[in-house]
Amino acid sequence: MQSGAFQKCIDPTCGLEYPITDIRIECERGHLLDVKYGNNPSPSLKETFYKRRNHANNIFNESGVWRFRELLNFCQIDTENIDECSKYLVSLDGAEGRLSKPYHMSKVSDYVGVQNMWLQPEGYNPSGSFKDNGMTTAVTHAKLVKIKKIICASTGNTSASAAMYAANENMECDVYIPAGEVAPGKLSQAFQFGAQVIEIKGNFDDALSASLKQAGEVGGYTVNSVNPFRIEGQKTIVFRALESLDWDAPDWIVYPGGALGNTSSCGKSLMELYEWGWIKKIPRIAVINSEGANTLHTLYNGKFEKTSLRWNKGKPDTDLIKRYYDFMDEKGMRPKTKATAIQIAKPANILKGLRALEFTNGIVSQVSDSEMLDGMALVGLNGFDCEMASGAVPAGIKKLMQEEIIKKDDTVIGILTGRQKDSSIPVDYHKNPQNKFANPPRS
Ligand SMILES: [Zn+2]
Repeated sequence: MQSGAFQKCIDPTCGLEYPITDIRIECERGHLLDVKYGNNPSPSLKETFYKRRNHANNIFNESGVWRFRELLNFCQIDTENIDECSKYLVSLDGAEGRLSKPYHMSKVSDYVGVQNMWLQPEGYNPSGSFKDNGMTTAVTHAKLVKIKKIICASTGNTSASAAMYAANENMECDVYIPAGEVAPGKLSQAFQFGAQVIEIKGNFDDALSASLKQAGEVGGYTVNSVNPFRIEGQKTIVFRALESLDWDAPDWIVYPGGALGNTSSCGKSLMELYEWGWIKKIPRIAVINSEGANTLHTLYNGKFEKTSLRWNKGKPDTDLIKRYYDFMDEKGMRPKTKATAIQIAKPANILKGLRALEFTNGIVSQVSDSEMLDGMALVGLNGFDCEMASGAVPAGIKKLMQEEIIKKDDTVIGILTGRQKDSSIPVDYHKNPQNKFANPPRS
């Protein structure tokens, strides 16, 4: 049993601590929070996790998130006691993370030029994206603190996941979306699961501001990735990837870059596993931005004021971020990409993302919409489905391989974050014979 869990500010010069049952997304000085644990889980749990794959109808073993529950035991329960698990842990009957593991996709490997490469489709979660990994834990915390209503802003995937878990737990759910910028397939899920949709004029960043303001005013419970309990569940994406490699860390883990919740959770899971002695090597994180929504790429690579933004051991230049956001506002720069899942100009988790990049000696690259579409189409030709934003992963690996940053003998895990929910994107892609992997209809 794990004891001594608490929340702690990520800023090492601040370091304020709060009980697990506090409902807040920042410390009182405005910094993001981490969930911390009081003990070091034994590596012998690796065998427990593996054995639970034979789940014997225990939904908490079947769940790809709760199978690893000792590593995210913020409820501080007896993890082998099924009654306690049932009382505290929220699960869609074990479905979250259950189908997610890395697959070798030979056509993608040939295209990018890396053979030791596996792609992990997180779109095969019940609501169709990686968000379910973190939503199951955020809603578990919401239940722990007796919340009746959750709130989020979304480009689509978060709202689908939040609405699904809220429906399952008889909670209300308000979702703030940028009007006209959410794929109809994603919006339909929020309606289908009974959420109240609130349309905001503007983009995702505007919707997030509106939802956080509302949560602050009425005391609502935010389930966006600024919620530290979301990050805890998303760590299991990395656990499943590493387990598939017998916990022998790869050279690279590659993600599309949007709000940077995934980058943050990947960094936190690697920091913890390394500190606990579960892994000896630290994989490098590669974040792939869209060229049309490339704030992290711009700041990290010194393309604004010729200054490379870094975590800098907990002293990042937050004024540089603020100046860049002001610059974007002044110039009327809006994020623009057809990959709406990562059409985000002000990544809410940028500081945790920078911490993850520093810990892993990570890098940030960017790809065009057309490169993402080719990546998406090629994943499809291997018999797997992903959305356009996930196409950034094969596209980014190919680019980094050509730049000789990723080497051809490196071991690479790429995370495909969501399933296709905008049918017009592949239809339009394949109708246009100019596209690299197009298969136009015949008449
Ligand atoms: Zn603080």
